[in-house]
Amino acid sequence: MTLPVYVQGAWFLGAALFIFGLKGMSSPASARKGIVVAGYGMLVAIAATFLIPGLQNLALMALALALGGSAAWISGKKVKMTDMPQMVAIYNGMGGGAAAAIAAIEFAKGDAHSLATTVLAVIGALIGAVSFTGSCVAWAKLQGVLKKAHRLPAQNAVNVVLALIAIGLGGAMVLMAPAQPELIFGFFAVALVLGLIVTLPIGGADMPVVISLFNAFTGLAVGFEGYVLGNPALIIAGIVVGAAGTLLTQLMAKAMNRPISNILFTPMVASGPGEAISGSMKELSALDAAAMMRYASKVIIVPGYGMAVAHAQHKVWEMTSILEEAGVEVKFAIHPVAGRMPGHMNVLLAEAGVPYDKIFDLDEVNGEFGQADVALIIGANDVVNPSARTDKASPIYGMPILNADQAQNVIVIKRGKGTGYSGVENALFYTDNCRMLYGDAQPMAGEIIQHLKAMG
Ligand code: NDP
Repeated sequence: MTLPVYVQGAWFLGAALFIFGLKGMSSPASARKGIVVAGYGMLVAIAATFLIPGLQNLALMALALALGGSAAWISGKKVKMTDMPQMVAIYNGMGGGAAAAIAAIEFAKGDAHSLATTVLAVIGALIGAVSFTGSCVAWAKLQGVLKKAHRLPAQNAVNVVLALIAIGLGGAMVLMAPAQPELIFGFFAVALVLGLIVTLPIGGADMPVVISLFNAFTGLAVGFEGYVLGNPALIIAGIVVGAAGTLLTQLMAKAMNRPISNILFTPMVASGPGEAISGSMKELSALDAAAMMRYASKVIIVPGYGMAVAHAQHKVWEMTSILEEAGVEVKFAIHPVAGRMPGHMNVLLAEAGVPYDKIFDLDEVNGEFGQADVALIIGANDVVNPSARTDKASPIYGMPILNADQAQNVIVIKRGKGTGYSGVENALFYTDNCRMLYGDAQPMAGEIIQHLKAMG
């Protein structure tokens, strides 16, 4: 069916808005605007869909929109910043599931399609179904519903066999089109189980990378199903999401120095006892921390996951402003995988009003730690662990880290002796130039602020 020009034009406009939106999201300064622009794109694309002549089930479509839209609105309003990764996981799973469902309906209708369209529908269905169940497992792990990694004996062989069966059934659906319901059912069942089996053994620390990979999968699945439905807005949106997800996955894997194959198929565990750590953890008071920074010329702040948990970003910015007024140069050093999602720290600091010209990436700032009087680490751990450079047995060996250990003095704010996400001990905390300020990051930053104010 040839669609009216106004529908095609509106879809084109929607797709253009997605691309402008994505461009906006490339910088923290314009990210909020980018999200709103992309949201308008989605609104235009959905509204245009209702204008297709001869549509049936309009009431059901409106009901589905109302239910999905209100669930997303309410959960979006309520979600905590630290729970964002699991929210992305579940939304992404819904996208993959929707793409797979579209394909299932097309197969069930049994309409004649060209060979190319049927092949794309099958590939989209396979990727979408894997992404759906995989993302649900990712959500359950990050939410703490599934606490353990479940690894089967000969896990990788099981993965390969299931993938081959799914591909074989998909191939049969193409050759026997229109396929019998049993074949369609079998194909989807195996694809859904494949998503579960591949994701269950992956540990929580690797989950954000896996979510990003599934995000790329979902994009591809949506793009393929857009082709099947002849919907250019879906094709463009799918390709954009697929490309962005792929780039993000590569970026995260590189920042953790782990190939994607290693993340998917090798559990993240230590390969031996690891290097012995000597020395002891030495405490200091908030007053001493304040004095050290007040009389420093250069302070580099390294925020991490703990700052997000404590919601300490506003206090950290207030402390920074006081130090700057006293003539101290303060910079923020951001590791690409600090926190639990890419850009986590940038978003929090931007929310607190920290100007972008004070925030530096690892490559930009790593050479400056040697000239810093104080490196203040707030709730970060793995991203400053020097054993990543030297300890070949460590699960984070090879991950580029922030050179906080090269600063003259290191102050670490954390609640206790807990390890970072990788579960490994941090040699930095035991070094001679490092002092621990134990406590929740927010009240601790508050105490430092009080002392700084008293120092005038
Ligand atoms: P880590 O998870 O290594 O460490 C966080 C530290 O914060 C802990 O040691 C904890 O110690 C402390 N902490 C927790 N709550 C508080 C609080 N309320 N106040 C003060 N301190 C607190 O965080 P990093 O940011 O250094 O590293 C991120 C890790 O996540 C890396 O291993 C990275 O590979 C992984 N990861 C990140 C991804 C991303 O995209 N950002 C993606 C995938 C994985 P204590 O309990 O003693 O307080």
